[in-house]
Amino acid sequence: MERKEKIAILQDVIRIKSVNDNEAEVAQYFADLLKKYGIESERVQYKEGRDNLVATVKKGKSEKVLGLTGHMDVVDAGDEARWTYPPYDAVIEGNKLYGRGSTDMKSGLTAMIIAMIELEEEKSEFDGAVKLLATVGEEVGELGAQQLTKAGYADDLTGLLIGEPTNYNLLYAHMGSINYSVISYGKEAHSSMPEEGFNAINHLNQFITKVNQKMTEVANSYVNKELGRTIHNVTVIKGGNQVNSIPNYAELQGNIRSIPDFDNEKIKELLSDIVDELNEESEYKLELTIDYNKIPVQAEKNSTLIQTIQKQFDAPLPLITAAGTTDAAEFTKAKNTFDVVVFGPGVPTLPHKVDEYVEIDNYMDMIDKYKAIIKSYLA
Ligand SMILES: [Zn+2]
Repeated sequence: MERKEKIAILQDVIRIKSVNDNEAEVAQYFADLLKKYGIESERVQYKEGRDNLVATVKKGKSEKVLGLTGHMDVVDAGDEARWTYPPYDAVIEGNKLYGRGSTDMKSGLTAMIIAMIELEEEKSEFDGAVKLLATVGEEVGELGAQQLTKAGYADDLTGLLIGEPTNYNLLYAHMGSINYSVISYGKEAHSSMPEEGFNAINHLNQFITKVNQKMTEVANSYVNKELGRTIHNVTVIKGGNQVNSIPNYAELQGNIRSIPDFDNEKIKELLSDIVDELNEESEYKLELTIDYNKIPVQAEKNSTLIQTIQKQFDAPLPLITAAGTTDAAEFTKAKNTFDVVVFGPGVPTLPHKVDEYVEIDNYMDMIDKYKAIIKSYLA
């Protein structure tokens, strides 16, 4: 494929506005493009207007399956007036292509798809399968990855390459993330007669004291050499509505960044134990909800996949970790374990910001690197 065309495709995709919705249009675009080169694909609907896209090219007899994944949604552009160029125009200036999703992560996903197409064009021989998994709703809960994993699409993978921006670093581990809420129900009373009611705020306060104490103990007791310690914070609190009334309702939200050494299951158990314990005291009525649950990912640093990538470079790429989560938190819940690495074009500090861009040279180089990685992994 011509250089010009590769750039035009990325521009087309950035011009499709897919802010936590409308991924079906991106999926349709890629499905048509793949078809033009003889590659069939399957759309897996999440809901109206939101389709995941799966495409497999299999050759030879090997059972090896290399997954290539990227998300098709982008985050909101914010105040568009603050952008130097309109966020969905995909304007090029010099070596930079500007636009929402240019770095996070339409360049990575497009580079993967073009790599598959070029291998097909060149009639490249390899032994095994390349499997594209383009997802919806990564930014708001890894919705597509969750759906595809539950439906078994990740069960046959032996390796998974995630094209999120890492700028020539290999990200092999990231923390998990849990959001939870606790509602405290009390009983209203006049503040001059508190014995007539139960104070929902006081009860919630007891929960905060206990959870902070227990989570500090966890942070002190478990250290992951690569990811560090568990992080916990109560971040939202609401309650009461009248200064001279005993409040009958209060609620809070908390966020936890987890490590495999004290995993999400243990954290969920710890939270519900605190709630159960408090509820045993007669007037307490606390309700815990886990709103978001993404497990930590810690892949093998020296995996076949990582070694395969390192072979493509003169000097080894730095191995890094991150606190933020990716679709890997869902895909790694598949039946079998497999090699995982995050490696894609773009600078990791640019996502979600004004004037997001990708360097065109970086994007073009990653197409070649993905091709080389596929051929070498499936040699
Ligand atoms: Zn992303």
